[in-house]
Amino acid sequence: MNTRIAPPGFAARAAAAGGSVIREALALTARPEVISFAGGLPASELLDVEGIRAAYDHVLTESPHRVLQYSTTEGDPRLREAVAARLSARQLPSRAEDLLVTTGSQQALALLATALLEPGDTVVVENPTYLAALQCFTYAGARVVPVPTDDQGIDVEALARIMAEERPKLLYLVPTFQNPTGHTLPLERRRSVARIAAERGLWIAEDDPYGELRFRGEHVPWIASLDDARDRTVLLGSLSKILSPGMRLGWLRAPAALRGVCTLAKQALDLHTSTVDQAAAAHYLREHDLDARLVRASYTYRERCDAMLDALAHTLPSGSTWSRPDGGMFIWVRLPDGYDAIALLSEAIAHDVAYVPGAPFFAGQADPATLRMSFAGHGPAQIEQGMKRLAQIFRYRERE
Ligand code: PMP
Repeated sequence: MNTRIAPPGFAARAAAAGGSVIREALALTARPEVISFAGGLPASELLDVEGIRAAYDHVLTESPHRVLQYSTTEGDPRLREAVAARLSARQLPSRAEDLLVTTGSQQALALLATALLEPGDTVVVENPTYLAALQCFTYAGARVVPVPTDDQGIDVEALARIMAEERPKLLYLVPTFQNPTGHTLPLERRRSVARIAAERGLWIAEDDPYGELRFRGEHVPWIASLDDARDRTVLLGSLSKILSPGMRLGWLRAPAALRGVCTLAKQALDLHTSTVDQAAAAHYLREHDLDARLVRASYTYRERCDAMLDALAHTLPSGSTWSRPDGGMFIWVRLPDGYDAIALLSEAIAHDVAYVPGAPFFAGQADPATLRMSFAGHGPAQIEQGMKRLAQIFRYRERE
């Protein structure tokens, strides 16, 4: 599905990353009448516009010359302290020095790829997995080896088998409310992953932008907190889904040597993350009870998730299956065999509704009958309306 678009003279990796027919189709969903379940955006109405504006006002009034200047690559110590305190409160003892602030957690992925991967190195991923991580590894010239998943996440027996055959350097996982599936890896499997990684000398990238958006069940400990994995896990976090994606603030928590290499790589990439954005976020985290806001956000997301789950049974052709997430933003759908979610997307868009076909989330052989739906961006009434539009397409197919 990638169209090879790099003109002659461009680097081969630019062509390998390619363009996407899906991206082109989804560009058509900007029309206001389209109810889009495609994006991974947090709900606009949950953004604390007033609180964030006040935080910028405060830092620009109190210390304008500091926050408008260059600053250190490692990041604002106040922000690092605030993030370390949040991690420590969730049973992952952390110090400010353990963290490198990044320009979104997406940059942390790019830094890891720079720090760890030679062209031809092998990265093991859940199948399906986060699309932009796949792109990042492709840019690094890595070989991506997929591991099958079930409704609890990565299949650890398959992982052990693949580890015996391949010599991967890095395992990339989104263990909690995964993008795209919404699945959460249970603690037992996290322990198995940690053990396998320790036995094989493997780095683990534990990408967790959604973990704080839990609306059911209990927090599952991070792989980074498990004994076997402590020295070999890089935890990636982000303010994107819990405060604002536009501020582009993320972090990585890594053992000292790897963090040092990532810091140097970041210096070459962008010197440092925006000083004023970090200062405003640090002030916000000091002055506001973000956890209380997240509790309120979790009510909103649970209501939206439940609205979508309720509607799915009436929307999808019989024989379809879907995930039932305990948090995050995504539901993963599998239509019956023979359905092609990419082919149906343009019809959906013509009916003013959109989703993301599942195919690009797969490394290797894609399952064309899959798709990802985000419930985060619309209230229950709009979700119901959007699902009725989808039903016209999917159910109509069923009668054909
Ligand atoms: N990892 C995953 C799994 C994601 O879903 C996303 C964003 N959609 C990111 C990383 C990047 O997030 P950000 O750069 O905004 O922190």
